[in-house]
Amino acid sequence: MRAIQMVDLKQQYAKIKNEVDAAVHEVIDSAAFINGKAVTDFSTSLSKYLGIKHVIPCANGTDALQISMMALGLQPGDEVITPSFTYVATTEVVALLRLKPVFVEVDQETFCIDPAAIEKAITPKTKAIVPVHLYGQAAPMEEIMQIAKKHNLFVIEDNAQAIGSSYTYKDGTVKKTGTIGTIGTTSFFPSKNLGCYGDGGAIFTNDDALAGLLKMVANHGQSKRYYHDVVGCNSRLDSMQAAVLNVKLKKLDEYISARRSAADYYDNTFAGHPKITTPKRASYSHHVFHQYTLILEGVDRDKLNEYLASKNIPSMIYYPVPAHKQKMFAEFGGGSYQLSVTDWLTERVISLPMHTELDEEQLKYITSSVLEFVNNN
Ligand SMILES: *Cc1c(COP(=O)(O)O)cnc(C)c1O
Repeated sequence: MRAIQMVDLKQQYAKIKNEVDAAVHEVIDSAAFINGKAVTDFSTSLSKYLGIKHVIPCANGTDALQISMMALGLQPGDEVITPSFTYVATTEVVALLRLKPVFVEVDQETFCIDPAAIEKAITPKTKAIVPVHLYGQAAPMEEIMQIAKKHNLFVIEDNAQAIGSSYTYKDGTVKKTGTIGTIGTTSFFPSKNLGCYGDGGAIFTNDDALAGLLKMVANHGQSKRYYHDVVGCNSRLDSMQAAVLNVKLKKLDEYISARRSAADYYDNTFAGHPKITTPKRASYSHHVFHQYTLILEGVDRDKLNEYLASKNIPSMIYYPVPAHKQKMFAEFGGGSYQLSVTDWLTERVISLPMHTELDEEQLKYITSSVLEFVNNN
């Protein structure tokens, strides 16, 4: 059996090596390392894939969030509502810009932000909501957009874990995640569902004026060469990364299918187990399984993690410490939050290997090892 990885990028590369190598060499031959043709080609292809007017590439998914908040003109002290149960980048940029992060609960079954909790957290200072499509599942966007409209708030969708996922409205309309809010952001970190071979990110919007501002902020606030209208930053996707992404974007739907098949295998094997809750697939969400995350009850989750490691099976806890308990946010009153669902989840979740290259032999070995531990402890 091939060694099991949390994400098997080597094996994935082996299948696209010729195409990737040729694309990267083309960039080197052209010497257009920054803002080259590969970057504009990629932006065009991705906007077509997503069905969005503007794709603004940038250096990583964290920058994408920061640039979005800068372009929206958020001011120090403005409140931004985010889930506490997320990767630190979502909440960190809020604090970095001296905005005030306001942490709310997620739904225990979908892991995504709870609309009722958003409503309760709104104050006159609230300016934006940042839903996260966690683990590849779409957040309940229709409800979130209704709340945003009612209270005149911006919505920035953190789509770093869910590119290619979609949301189905009650009337049957289907939209890709990241294209529903005021702005969508994503990351092309290598292990993401659409990953490059270094760092990368992008910002999406249908608003022409906002797209202009986002581009300007990402490029030193420049309106035309050497004329800088606003304070911005320097955040670029380089041509070599774009060249890799051009190859991988064509495979994205195939990659998503492979992830969903692995998830099906896991689901079927663990179905009905009294101690294991498999990830819910919300009816409105096309789950793209960035992570496959179980909730365990009556099982020592950390011991299972060690047991699997002893059998050469990696597993991860995403995330052991929610934002409201991070030292980083002490000055924002992090310690005073009572988020019982989030705390409950952080003690019980475990993510199993999930990638495009898992084969049946590996899945069988992983699931039987999990069951062996769970049934005997
Ligand atoms: C990965 C990730 C980011 C940040 O992306 P980087 O490219 O690593 O900066 C932001 N939000 C979420 C939810 C992520 O998973």
